[in-house]
Amino acid sequence: MSESHDPRVPPRRVVIIGGGITGLAAAYYLQRALPERSRVEVVVLEADAKPGGKLRTLHHAGFAVETGPDSFLTSKPAALVLCHDLGLDGELIAQRQPRGAYVLRRGRLIPIPAGMRLIHPTRRWQMLRSPLLSPAGRLRALAHPLTRRRRETGDESIGAYVQRRYGAEMLRVLGEPLLAGIHLADPWQLSLEATFPALHAAPGKRAPAGPRQPAAGLQHLQGSPFASLAGGMERLSGALMAELGSSVSTDTTVHEVIPAQGGYRLALQGNPSISGHYELPADAVLVTTPAAAAARLVRVVNPSLARLLESARATSSAVVTLGFRGPGHALPPGSGFLVPRGEDSRLLACTWSSNKFASRAPEGSVLVRGFVGGWRDAKILELEDDELLELLRGEMARLLGGVFAGDEPATIRHVARWPEGTPLYQVGHRQWLAKLAAAGKTTPGLWLAGAPYDGVGIPDCIHQARSAASEIVRYLG
Ligand code: FAD
Repeated sequence: MSESHDPRVPPRRVVIIGGGITGLAAAYYLQRALPERSRVEVVVLEADAKPGGKLRTLHHAGFAVETGPDSFLTSKPAALVLCHDLGLDGELIAQRQPRGAYVLRRGRLIPIPAGMRLIHPTRRWQMLRSPLLSPAGRLRALAHPLTRRRRETGDESIGAYVQRRYGAEMLRVLGEPLLAGIHLADPWQLSLEATFPALHAAPGKRAPAGPRQPAAGLQHLQGSPFASLAGGMERLSGALMAELGSSVSTDTTVHEVIPAQGGYRLALQGNPSISGHYELPADAVLVTTPAAAAARLVRVVNPSLARLLESARATSSAVVTLGFRGPGHALPPGSGFLVPRGEDSRLLACTWSSNKFASRAPEGSVLVRGFVGGWRDAKILELEDDELLELLRGEMARLLGGVFAGDEPATIRHVARWPEGTPLYQVGHRQWLAKLAAAGKTTPGLWLAGAPYDGVGIPDCIHQARSAASEIVRYLG
């Protein structure tokens, strides 16, 4: 980066719109990459009163309630690297043993057989003995090496892939709730290439890689597919905020990016402390909001980019949490269960948070998170919070009994709603990304990054943030 210490040269400004994990990580890596005395100001504008976006941890009565993400994959290094950079290594925690999960089948919780790598059975005997699928379904799933190779090379849906390789029963029982469940999406609409590129790249040859060898100091994460932070996921945005300080302006909504001489102007509403402006000039802009908001932001400056962004889809969901203070309460061993379509339940999945990670609940207490909504049951989101809480309690009483079936009032009763909160990567998503890149060429100095584009997981968002920061540094230089 070329430096200018000449006070007659006006300072340059990079504005990041959105203070979720993508925006905060981009600002952090940008500030780290800029030479100390460069006259480049980095500003993050966040509409909400609190930065962090989907990262929210509520602390109450000794419980740590994650209302959005509760962990991140360890097989993708970007989140672990950021935690390391922020000095959080000592706060990283592994998923507790036993890590297995269940699938609801005809009203009973059936363990997912050992040796499953996502939907790929690596231990034939375990699969054969498991009552998860019918005998015919098990044989069909194990016959995957004999299935015909696909001739076409382009993208396909997760539904088509799983059904072709492992059979229709495997798709319904495990493929849909496990693979498409992350996106809360119809497996027949969801792009395999964009969501599980390893499966798309080498069908039948390689199951997705397991966790990598952790770096020195992180051996306690060895073998754990997920990691989290002892104080909850919001600790990550908190640590970023400690680094970024007054560079982040909350309660500030950007309405429009407007072309201006040598860059852009941002029309905004909210915090007048940002240099006293309601129109903020910027040399470079990084948009990290959800796609619908990004479309509105760029419609004047780049209408064709806006039209492409308008075609993005997202699904809505809610996370319903119940916690009972112990001592003396317990859940079955494991991290929770998935609910295939056709079961007599309106839950999509349930995480047993007090089992999954230490420090989420006081000793002997239980904390569970139920997921509802998605493409399967959008109507459920019309229910009131109390109704959703009763629904979860009823399901848990039916399946597990115990404290859920008694009269004890729950200590934690929380519902987090995420309208259009999960981007839907439709078949052809990569082509859509290529079109976005082409349309973006007409507005140099304007970037997009975050969950709608190159991966919804936290490591993916951080990876995109870091790449965008490098590109901005190159652009300014
Ligand atoms: P966001 O977090 O959505 O941040 C965007 C920010 O932009 C928001 O803060 C918003 O207020 C702001 N904004 C919007 N419009 C404007 C505007 N006009 N002006 C200024 N600011 C604006 N991932 C995992 O890896 N592990 C998990 O366990 C996991 N669980 C999840 C559970 C749930 C319920 C959900 C919804 C997601 C989960 N995810 C998980 C996905 C992951 O949390 C998200 O994809 C990721 O946090 C998105 O980060 P982001 O910064 O791209 O977007």
